[in-house]
Amino acid sequence: MRPAVFLDRDGTLIGDVGYLDRLDQIALFPWTVDAIRALNRAGLVVVVITNQSGVARGLFTEVFVEETHRLISDRLAAGGARIDAYYYCPHHPAGVVEAYRQHCDCRKPARGLVDRAVQDLDLDPSSSFVVGDKWLDIGVARAAGARGILVRTGSGAAEVARPHPDIKADAIVDNLAGAASWILLNLHSNPNPNPQSAIRDPQCS
Ligand SMILES: [Mg+2]
Ligand SMILES: [Zn+2]
Repeated sequence: MRPAVFLDRDGTLIGDVGYLDRLDQIALFPWTVDAIRALNRAGLVVVVITNQSGVARGLFTEVFVEETHRLISDRLAAGGARIDAYYYCPHHPAGVVEAYRQHCDCRKPARGLVDRAVQDLDLDPSSSFVVGDKWLDIGVARAAGARGILVRTGSGAAEVARPHPDIKADAIVDNLAGAASWILLNLHSNPNPNPQSAIRDPQCS
C-alpha cells in the first residue's frame, strides 16, 4: 500500500472562482506545477478530491468537470507534473438536478472519495496526507486517519481566522508549495496519534 497526497482542487490547486463553469477560469497558482512535480518525484501518489456540487445545482455537468480536469492535467504535464487520479462529488442534498440530489458518502468532509481512491489505487491512508483550504478538508484527513494540512490560499486565511472547535490541522502553511515541503519533511516520520490510527492494525502502517 502506497502513501498518497489527497489535494483539494478549488483554492488549493487552482484559484477559487466560486462555481467554476468556464474553462478560461482555470488558473493554476504560480507554484502549483513545481509543488506537484516535487510530490511526484518523492514517489507519492497525487490524487485530487473535490466537492463539485455545481453539478447537483445544475450549474454545469459532469462532462464539464471532467473536461476541467483534463485541462488541468495538460497544463501540469507541460511542466512535467502529474495528477494520478481525480475523484469528485457531484451531489448536494439541496440540488435541483434530481439525479444528484442526495445525502451521499462522498461529499467532503465525508471520506467516500478517499475510500474510492484507496481501493482503486491500493493506497495507505494512515501514511497519506490531505491538503486543502477549508476545515472540511482537514475533516476528511481526520475521518480517513491521514495527516491534514491547511493552506492559506482560497478560503484558507479566513478559515485560519475562524478556528474549528473540534478539528486541528497537523500544519498550516501559506500555499501548496509550503504543503509539499512539509510533506517531504514529514514523509517518514510517524503520523500524529489520533483515534483512527489508534484502532488501526499496527502491521498496516
Ligand atoms: Mg477548496
Ligand atoms: Zn457525493
